[in-house]
Amino acid sequence: MSAIKMDGKALSAKVRSKILEETQSLKAQGIVPGLAVILVGDDPASEIYVRNKEKACTECGFYSEKHVLPASATEQELIALIHTLNESPKINGILCQLPLPAQISEDAVIAAIDPHKDVDAFHPANVGRIMIGDFDFLPCTPAGVMELLDEYQIDPKGKKCVVIGRSNIVGKPMAMLLLHRHGTVTICHSRTIDLPKVCAEADILVAAVGKAGFVTPDMVKEGAVVIDVGINRNAEGKVCGDVAPEVMEKASYMTPVPGGAGPMTITMLMKNTLKAARLQH
Ligand code: NDP
Repeated sequence: MSAIKMDGKALSAKVRSKILEETQSLKAQGIVPGLAVILVGDDPASEIYVRNKEKACTECGFYSEKHVLPASATEQELIALIHTLNESPKINGILCQLPLPAQISEDAVIAAIDPHKDVDAFHPANVGRIMIGDFDFLPCTPAGVMELLDEYQIDPKGKKCVVIGRSNIVGKPMAMLLLHRHGTVTICHSRTIDLPKVCAEADILVAAVGKAGFVTPDMVKEGAVVIDVGINRNAEGKVCGDVAPEVMEKASYMTPVPGGAGPMTITMLMKNTLKAARLQH
């Protein structure tokens, strides 16, 4: 058996064309969704992510602004820019590309973004709202995974769901969204004892570790749904996920890397920006 590939690229295109339609109807009312993306420094991976976000804005008919600060920028300078964007009527969503240089506190920057414009859903106010299940914005990567599960009619209800990784941007919110959908959720991390055994019990296994080939076939139950969130580079410099390719032979459904969870993340950012524009008018 070889797993069905969960095509995040195709689903993204479908969702983006729906967003474009909705943008056009908003434009007829004089509303243009606007996203500001801030990049600090010249990290090549971050530059690619920012470029892809700008491209997605164009595809969805949004107004977008890119603000680039030097790697030497101070926290005060960055927060001053965020305050300006918080007040800008053209901007509905603000995204500050992470990671930031060491002299800038990510927590302080996230807290400075107006929660109504926090389209990454990283602000503590939005994180709290996700926890209690009363939210406007969902964090983009976990939200994209949920859309992929829905597209392939995979219902987490009652299923054993295992998330490897407990970061604030992926692991924790991923676990929360699966819980909202009635999954029985276990979160694993670097101190988990006998991690392969815990993973091998999962009906739905989400890997958000950041280590190429971390999930091997012995960690996967026959017929499990495997979601690979990882974006790594292998020894040849090729982009690859956290899940070893041989897992394809054991899983029932699996997301490829690239082309699975990655494109959905940016699409969910567009969805949040559209929603922010609606809510702000
Ligand atoms: P972090 O480094 O913040 O978190 C990694 C998590 O993996 C931590 O919770 C860590 O545990 C856990 N971990 C690390 N090593 C082990 C191990 N040996 N055994 C068990 N758990 C381990 O990463 P992110 O959550 O930010 O990202 C994870 C991956 O997802 C990365 O590859 C990243 O590039 C990718 N990513 C992809 C996105 C997309 O658009 N598809 C968006 C965001 C991220 P502990 O907490 O104990 O240290």
